[in-house]
Amino acid sequence: MPVAVPAPSPVAPQEKRYALSFSVDEKTFEELQEVKALLSSSLPQGVSIEETLKALLDQYLDRHSPAKRQARRLAAAGKRQASITPPSLELVPKKTAAKTAPASRHIPAQVRDEVFCRDGASCSYISPDGVRCGSTHNLQLDHIVPFAVGGSSRADNLRCCCSLHNRHLAKRYFGEDHMQKFMHG
Ligand SMILES: [Zn+2]
Repeated sequence: MPVAVPAPSPVAPQEKRYALSFSVDEKTFEELQEVKALLSSSLPQGVSIEETLKALLDQYLDRHSPAKRQARRLAAAGKRQASITPPSLELVPKKTAAKTAPASRHIPAQVRDEVFCRDGASCSYISPDGVRCGSTHNLQLDHIVPFAVGGSSRADNLRCCCSLHNRHLAKRYFGEDHMQKFMHG
């Protein structure tokens, strides 16, 4: 599959670029300068705003991206198991079952990330005419069999939904009247 690739240049000729323009308050500006200063030890040739932003995005995604967290877990599980079996999704957590017993509404980060990755970090709702929503905003985890009627918090009973479809599915399951009561306590 690998093909000869020309030596990488800092800016590839056809790289798509986006111009961003915005103002920030004084505190944000000072913090930006502080991050730039911290980065300067690893980028002695000078730190641009773009590099600063990249470093911040990397840090944020490293911590909050379900895909990255899940990849780390699988890699760690793979290392532990390498001498026995190749890494596979089955290595995910014996503890999960116990932690997510039907009695608990709590969804461990590991299960959350697993569902987000499985559903492509997008809303999995499919409309009656077969169109998948696919929204990537305001995602929530929806219990397919609702927790209130005994549905478990295991990955196989969870799906990624945008808040709109999460509510829509709950209304469809419980009925509008019940949801009104629920929403008003
Ligand atoms: Zn949706």
